[in-house]
Amino acid sequence: MVLIFAQRNREMTNQKLSDTYRHKGLRQKLMEELRKKGIYDEAVLTAINTVPRHYFMESSFLEFAYRDQAFPIGASQTISQPYTVAFQTELLQVNRHAKVLEVGTGSGYQTAILCELGAKVFTIERQRELFTKSQQLLGQMGYKPHFFFGDGYKGKSAYGPFQRILVTAGAPCIPSDLIDQLAEGGRMVIPVGDNQVQTMTLIVKNNGKIETTEHGTFIFVPLLKGTDG
Ligand code: SAH
Repeated sequence: MVLIFAQRNREMTNQKLSDTYRHKGLRQKLMEELRKKGIYDEAVLTAINTVPRHYFMESSFLEFAYRDQAFPIGASQTISQPYTVAFQTELLQVNRHAKVLEVGTGSGYQTAILCELGAKVFTIERQRELFTKSQQLLGQMGYKPHFFFGDGYKGKSAYGPFQRILVTAGAPCIPSDLIDQLAEGGRMVIPVGDNQVQTMTLIVKNNGKIETTEHGTFIFVPLLKGTDG
């Protein structure tokens, strides 16, 4: 019984990790849709065109993987809308080999996009279920970011400073630990606001000083303190 279940599980995983011509076609359409919506960084568009988003979706939403929408991923969290992922990544300006700290691994989709851009990624998740799932999936896909289970409010000082910091949940304020761990000349992209709506905020550190610019409103799940246990 257990054996049959294990085999069925394996089959389901294999099935899920198949990237067909249909998927590739839908992904290309999504890339063109994002270009029309204003995403212009070719490296970001190529990464969107490369990473199979359907691998990151819950089975009940698989057929919607290439819609420009957010979807539930379990633990009351969501996989971000592709436009939001592309917008945040473009604003971050990721260079190859840059040390990037991501707060909110979630499904791991954004993490894979950062890896595709050649970044050295350090990603933190506070929900055990998502941490375990995304670590397993990205490993299967051949990506090698550093995964941490913990509270991203505190960043990861032992591995800093980071040239780039990306927060993928709505923060009521900019965590001071993250500012401290931002390298000189570094960029942090963080949605700041209440539970309803957040302003996409870019923070640049120059000569130890912080410059802040705002880049439109978005809706994210909230950045929460502590871990789920
Ligand atoms: N980039 C992810 C977005 C997931 S939603 C994706 O596209 O799938 C935001 C994620 O941030 C959730 O998984 C949530 O559990 C996580 N999160 C919220 N507060 C956090 C914190 N303080 N530290 C680490 N992760 C956090």
